[in-house]
Amino acid sequence: MQPITNIFTLLKVPKTTVIVMHQKPDADAMGSSLGLYHLLQAMDYPVTVISPTNWADWLKWMKGADKVIDYELNTARANEALEKASWIFCLDFNTLMRTRKMAAPIASSPALRILIDHHQQPQEEMFAYGISDTSKSSTSEMIFDFIMASGNGDKIHLAIAECLYAGVMTDTGSFRFSSATASVHRMVAGLKDTGLDHSKIHENLFDNFLENRLRFTGHALLNRLEVFYEYNTALICIPWKDLVKFQIRTGDTEGLVNFPLTIQGIKFAALIIDRDEEIKCSFRSKGGFDVNRFARQYFEGGGHINAAGGRSSETLEQTAQRFRASLKENALQLQ
Ligand code: 5GP
Ligand code: MN
Repeated sequence: MQPITNIFTLLKVPKTTVIVMHQKPDADAMGSSLGLYHLLQAMDYPVTVISPTNWADWLKWMKGADKVIDYELNTARANEALEKASWIFCLDFNTLMRTRKMAAPIASSPALRILIDHHQQPQEEMFAYGISDTSKSSTSEMIFDFIMASGNGDKIHLAIAECLYAGVMTDTGSFRFSSATASVHRMVAGLKDTGLDHSKIHENLFDNFLENRLRFTGHALLNRLEVFYEYNTALICIPWKDLVKFQIRTGDTEGLVNFPLTIQGIKFAALIIDRDEEIKCSFRSKGGFDVNRFARQYFEGGGHINAAGGRSSETLEQTAQRFRASLKENALQLQ
């Protein structure tokens, strides 16, 4: 993988471009992709954004979200865009596996693949150019850096600012995590200069849910939470029947894994959900416990030191049992 700076001179000539993000995109994946989309549009690129799956309703306010192709819904149209592309930007994921059914068509495409991402251990051999920087708060921050470093800062308009703000704000836990550096705050100051109304973005993302989601959260915390004080750990296990009963949709479980960390002393929180097609796991920690390592070791996953995810092909109960057993093996690190 050559450094991303090597494409700066190539940028001036518009290329047919596809931007792709990870499956079930969060605000950083969608925000960084749409931020780059608006920039490339301003530079007269023919550009198509593809998501491997559907996405949460609370991302639909982003300008351009209505143009994003859902690969599972419009596979033929998406494959055509991939075949015609000269460049494929891969944003906010480290391995092609994170794009699910798109992994094969992306891998076989003759287009140049360009990575911009902040997850650990990227599949560098799959990319012609790229930047992987785990010290960055978000891919949205990296897109901002990319725009500035390539000399296109003058093209940042309000829609770009809104998309990038949403990504950096959510990935830093509303500027709470240590990844919210001085440069992040300087970037936000720059975005504010475009006329960004940041309060509106917070409302769009956090005060935009249906009643069932709140009631589901109450149910999960009351009836599905286990606390293991001896390991400073908490686990929430959600059976498929709960998702059906509360009519849970994509994005409705986002953030649930963070609640157990509000309990005094709890340093490690896990959420295991039976999504019917697979068992999905989310892990969060405070301090030194490395959930990226934990997710890789036990649940075929990865992510960052304090936020990671994974999966399991066992039943929900077997997965939960394996999680409980793993705590004993990690007892020292969890003290
Ligand atoms: P979440 O728990 O919000 O789904 O994911 C937390 C973090 O872990 C995100 O940065 C996400 O990219 C990463 N992650 C989630 N699931 C997986 C997975 O199955 N594999 C890998 N490599 N990373 C994951
Ligand atoms: Mn991210």
